[in-house]
Amino acid sequence: MFYCLGVSLLQVNEEKKYREITYDYTMKAAKMLTKVNKKIADTLNFFSKLSIRKLLNYFKLLAGYCVSILSGKVIFQALPAVLSIEPTTKCNLKCPECPGGLQQFTRKTGNMDFKFYKSIIDQSYKDLIYLMLYFQGEPFLHPDFFEMVKYAHKRKIYTTTSTNAHFLDKENAKKVVESGLDRIIISIDGTTQESYEKYRIGGKLEKVVDGTKNLINARNKFGSNKPYIIYQFVVFKSNEYEINALNKLAKEIGVDDVKIKTAQFYNLHWSNELIPTRRKFLRYKKEDGNYYLKGKLPNKCWRSWHSSVITIDGKIVPCCFDKDAKHELGDLKTDSMKKIVKGKSIKEFKNSILKNRKKFDICRNCIEGIRVFR
Ligand code: SF4
Repeated sequence: MFYCLGVSLLQVNEEKKYREITYDYTMKAAKMLTKVNKKIADTLNFFSKLSIRKLLNYFKLLAGYCVSILSGKVIFQALPAVLSIEPTTKCNLKCPECPGGLQQFTRKTGNMDFKFYKSIIDQSYKDLIYLMLYFQGEPFLHPDFFEMVKYAHKRKIYTTTSTNAHFLDKENAKKVVESGLDRIIISIDGTTQESYEKYRIGGKLEKVVDGTKNLINARNKFGSNKPYIIYQFVVFKSNEYEINALNKLAKEIGVDDVKIKTAQFYNLHWSNELIPTRRKFLRYKKEDGNYYLKGKLPNKCWRSWHSSVITIDGKIVPCCFDKDAKHELGDLKTDSMKKIVKGKSIKEFKNSILKNRKKFDICRNCIEGIRVFR
C-alpha cells in the first residue's frame, strides 16, 4: 500500500513539474508572440500613414541624393521626409554631455509657440513621413505637448518622441495614449539608482520605471498597441555591465524594444569618467592618447539630406548634432518651408558636405554612416 502511495505521489509531482514547465514555455511563447505582434502592429501603423505623394517625395529625395553624389554637386532637392521639431529647450535634468540640459548653448530657454507649430505642420504634412517631436529639452515640459501630438496625428503623420519619463504619471500616461502618439523612446541609462544618476543627474530611476508601467497600463486599458515603447540605454562606464539587467527589467515590465546606444562625447579626454572601458560600447578609438571616431567620414550625409531639425524659434538646422543651431539653413518665421528647401543656404551646405564633410565641426563628431546601436 505504501509502495502504491509513494508511486502516486511521485506521479503527482511529475505531473505538477510537467505542468509548470509547460506553463513556463507557454508564457514565454505568449510573451514572444505579443512582442512580435507589437512590432508588426507598429510597422502596419507606419505604412498606414503613407500616401503616394509622400512616397514620390521620398523617391525624389533619394534620386536627388544619388545623382548629387555621382555628380559631386547638388542637382535637385525635395521637401524633408523627416522632421524633428523642438517643443522646448527646458529640461528637468542636468546630464553632463547634454548642452541643452546644462544650458551651455547660446540659444534661449523656452517653448515653441503652438500656433507656429501648427503652421509648420500645415506646410509639411503632405510630404512628411516621420515626425520626431524632440530635439533638445524634455518634450513633456511643453504645456501643449499633447495637443501637438494630436495635431500631427490628425494630419496622419507617424509621430514619435523621446523622453526621460519623469512626467508619465497615470493622468499623463492616459493622455499619451489618447493623443495618438505612435512611438516613444524612454531614456533609461542604468538599472540601479546609483548607476542611473551618474549620467541622468537629478533623475529618479523609480519614476522612469513607474512611468513606463503607467503607460503600459493605459495602453492596455484602451486596448491600444500605441505608442510602441522603446527603452534606450546609452552606454557609459557607470552602466556598461548592466545590459543583461536592463533586458531583464524591460521584459518584466513589458517594454516593446530595447536599444543599446553608444554615447556621443564632447569631452573626449581620458579623465572623463563616463567613457566606457569596453571598446565595443565606444564609438571612438584611442590613438596616441587621443580619441577619434571609429570608421571613415564619407563626404555624404543622407540624414541631413532627407530630414531637417527645427528649433523652438523656427530656425532650420541640418541635424540633431547642431545643438546650438550654429549652421542655420533658414528661418520659418520669415520664409516658407518650400522657399527654404530651394534656397541657397541648404544647397551650399549640402555641396560643402559633398566636397569635404570634415569642414564642419558637428560633422567631425557625427555618427552618420557609423553603427551606434549594439
Ligand atoms: S553632423 Fe554633418 S554629417 Fe552628421 S548628420 Fe549632421 S550634417 Fe550630416
